[in-house]
This record gives sequence, structure tokens and C-alpha cells, in this order.
Amino acid sequence: MTKNYIAGEWLSATEASANINPSNTNDVIGEYARASAAEAERAIAAAYDAFPAWSRSSIQQRHDILKAVGDEILARKEELGRLLSREEGKTLPEGIGEVTRAGQIFLFFSGECLRMAGEKVPSVRPFIDVEITREPVGVVGLITPWNFPIAIPAWKIAPALAYGNTVVFKPADLVPGSAHALSEIIIRAGVPAGVFNLVMGRGSVVGEAMLNSPKVSAISFTGSVPTGRKVAQTCITADPMKKVQLEMGGKNPMVVLDDADLKVAVDCAVNSAFFSTGQRCTASSRLIVTDGIHDRFVAAMQERMQELVIDDALKAGTQIGPVVDQSQLDQDLKYIRIGQEEGAKLVAGGELLQRDAPGFYLAPALFTEVSNQMRVAREEIFGPVATVTRAKDYDEALELANDTPFGLSSGICTTSLKYASHFKRNAEAGMVMVNLPTAGVDYHVPFGGRKGSSYGPREQGRYAQEFYTTVKTAYTFDGNGPYVPKTKGSE
Ligand code: NAD
Repeated sequence: MTKNYIAGEWLSATEASANINPSNTNDVIGEYARASAAEAERAIAAAYDAFPAWSRSSIQQRHDILKAVGDEILARKEELGRLLSREEGKTLPEGIGEVTRAGQIFLFFSGECLRMAGEKVPSVRPFIDVEITREPVGVVGLITPWNFPIAIPAWKIAPALAYGNTVVFKPADLVPGSAHALSEIIIRAGVPAGVFNLVMGRGSVVGEAMLNSPKVSAISFTGSVPTGRKVAQTCITADPMKKVQLEMGGKNPMVVLDDADLKVAVDCAVNSAFFSTGQRCTASSRLIVTDGIHDRFVAAMQERMQELVIDDALKAGTQIGPVVDQSQLDQDLKYIRIGQEEGAKLVAGGELLQRDAPGFYLAPALFTEVSNQMRVAREEIFGPVATVTRAKDYDEALELANDTPFGLSSGICTTSLKYASHFKRNAEAGMVMVNLPTAGVDYHVPFGGRKGSSYGPREQGRYAQEFYTTVKTAYTFDGNGPYVPKTKGSE
């Protein structure tokens, strides 16, 4: 059994879960420990005890550890990418790409350790200095989803440690392999006992223990909207209240205008909707296409979709791997049925595929004649299922794009500077893409959304410090003159 790492020790558990390859369900990657609530409590207590020393550790020590982690991840990207693709089902180039991203994130935050800065400003009162500094928050609980098994853990763990917090990390149940491999690297890099804890297990057990513990000061969660809501409610009603950051679902629109370059638009749409098997929170599942290009666009999409290679994630040449597991496949098929029942027209894909080994293979599906009120256009499916909705012009396309409870990413394909600029300003989303897929972001800039997609400060880049630090304002009377307790306007 592959073990949890708690309080500086590798510990097995009484329960384990099998990690199954979705490209070949006969392939069991391993048995991974599932922690009990008591084990989660132990990890939280260890992180709590380790916090005072780690919060005062030198920025050089933190830099060196994070740099060693980043370097090892990058040196082993092929092997780690293979493990990731084997357990999650994204293609090998996507798996290696994600691992590379994780390494880059650790290197970025190793640099951020050395760039910690505060402010010193004059007081409104004489002979007093004011210093504004950032301090770590405490024990942070990190809860991650299955679809980015190493990049999302990296973009939470790296800033948490960089800014001096201690960590309890709970990966998704479906993808413990990458989480475990990452944890081994972090531990090998020399992180002191208790500072970093890996607690694999169920959300309802390990996750809940983190939410309910008064020793955890902050929770960073990425996952679905229903779980996210629950996480926020528990954190906000806890005593003491916890800081909380949520990155959740999406129903990201991609607008294609009459003046778009058709090839660019089809490339962007196929990539956004179907790569990584449509299992990206930034995937575009709503293609909003103006009248003048609609029929040409749909025909070009159908043609392109016939060429897509859907097969074993590890096979050379595969462009789209399997769906992650049976329950996600059932959800995809359910929505394909719902779309047909709602009167949308299935113009490509949607059928199960047989490959050499038993796996969760689904041909990417495209619906046309979709109104924005249909469930397939409103609810997150999280699979390779996209809809095309007609718009008469740019204004209507923008209105449709924004008519959604979500607000993560939003894209437009156009050759018009005027429409591109207007869309960037008016799209109700945290990230906007022009002539680019809605998914695929840089690691040194903020990531996150608005409306139903996100809650709390942004992740990644320098903006990550908003969540992983708390601000302190310190006043010092220097004694070089009379103490003036109050001036007009001061509290
Ligand atoms: P999920 O909500 O089922 O699970 C996410 C995590 O929460 C898992 O680790 C799970 O074990 C844990 N969890 C479950 N119940 C819990 C509870 N009661 N208390 C605490 N933790 C609990 O999501 P998922 O199926 O793993 O991931 C898919 C979802 O993630 C999609 O909705 C997708 O859009 C979203 N996602 C969002 C982003 C983003 O940055 N916005 C990125 C990736 C994925």
C-alpha cells in the first residue's frame, strides 16, 4: 500500500483505494492509503506544531527547498508525465506538459521567497513609523480535484510553503499517484517534519476533518460548485472563521464572429472543447457563432472532429484520451441524452468507442441548434461535449456569452480590433482569450474567475500572496520628540 506522509513519517492506513488506469481498466496502478479522520487530525496537529518554526524560517531555506522540488520535477518530467497520463487519462504530451508546468510553478515561487517585501510609510502622527508586512496565515488545508493531478497541487503547495505556511494536502481520490510522487519530491527536498503532510482519503472524511479543525486557518479548494459551496459554508461558520479560496466549475463561452479566421476558430474550438477530454475547468463547452459563419464553422468542425484520434492516453499519436472514470462517463452520456431530449441536434460524436483494452472511450460530441436556456448550455458537463448556439451579431453573441451562472474563462475569435477590445472589457469572466483557446494559461499571472466559478483571492503568480499571507500594520514611536497621542483625523 502506498502510504500517507504525516508528522514526518510515512504511514499506512486501514483502508486503501485502487488507482485504475482509465485507458485500460485492467491496469491497476497501485493501492493507495485512505486516511481516517483520526489520521487527518494527526496531520493537522503536526502542521500546527510545525508552524511557529517554519513561519520564521529563512527565505533562503524556503527558496532552496522549492528550487530543489522544481528542479527534480523538471528532471523527471517524462516519467512523472507518464504516471499522470496513466492515472488521469490525458495524453502523454498533455501529461508531460502538466508536469513541466508544476516544475515551473515551484521555480517561480522559489524566486518569490526572495522577493517578499513590505512597506514603510510615515505616520500621520509625528515621531511614529508605520510598517506594513505580510505574514503567513498558519496551517493551510489544500483540497484538489482529479483533472490536474500535479499542476493544481503545485500551484497551492508552492505558494503556501513559500510564504511560510504549513500544509495539509488532500488530493482527489481518483489520482493519488501524482500527488504521492510530488510529495516524495517535496520531502526529499528537505522540508522539516510536520511542515508538509500528505493525507490521501475521502473528501467526506479527510476534507471534512480539515474544514472542522480549529487548528486549520485557511482552506484552498478547487473542485465542483456543490462541494465548494459546502466548503465555504463550513469555513465561514467555523469558530474561528477560516480564510477560504474556491476555484470551481465553468461553462466557458467561445464566441466566433463572421470575420474570424475559420482555421483559427476551429483550432481554438476543438482545443478548448475536446482536448484533455473536455475535462478542464477552462474548457469551452459553449460555442456561440454568428449567422454569417455558422454553417461553414459547423461543417469545418464536423470534418475536423472526424480526424481526431481518440485512444489510449499513452499511445503515440493519441489526441484525446479516455474519460476519467465510469461515473464521469455516465454523466457525459446523461447530458448527451438530455441534449437530444431538449431538441438540440447531435451533429458529431457522442458514442462509446471500443479500443484494444477496456476503457472509458467517448467520441467527442457536438450539438447544434442549442438555445442558451437548455441544460446542456447551462450546466457544467465536464466532458468532451460542446454546443453551438447561433447569434445574429456581436451584441447578441456577447449577451449570450455572459448569460451564464459561471465566469471563469471567455474567448472570442475575430479579426476585428474593435470587437476584440470591446469583448475584453465586457466579458464577465476572470480570464479572456482573443484568438486563443479558453484553456491554456501562463503560470506567472493570476488565475481565477468570477460569479459562480470562484470565491476569494486569485491563485498563481504574485497574486497568490493575497490568500497565503495576512497583512500586519506595525506602529513604532521612536522617542525623538513628544508623544502626540492623537492628531486630527486619526483614530
Ligand atoms: P469535487 O468537488 O468532487 O472534489 C474536489 C475535492 O474535494 C476532492 O479532493 C474531493 O475529495 C474533495 N471533497 C469532496 N467532498 C468534500 C467535503 N465534503 N469536504 C471537503 N472536501 C471534499 O470535484 P472533482 O470532481 O474532483 O473535480 C471536478 C470539478 O473541479 C469540476 O467542477 C471542475 O470545473 C472543477 N475544477 C475547477 C478548476 C478551477 O480552477 N476553477 C480547476 C480544475 C477543476
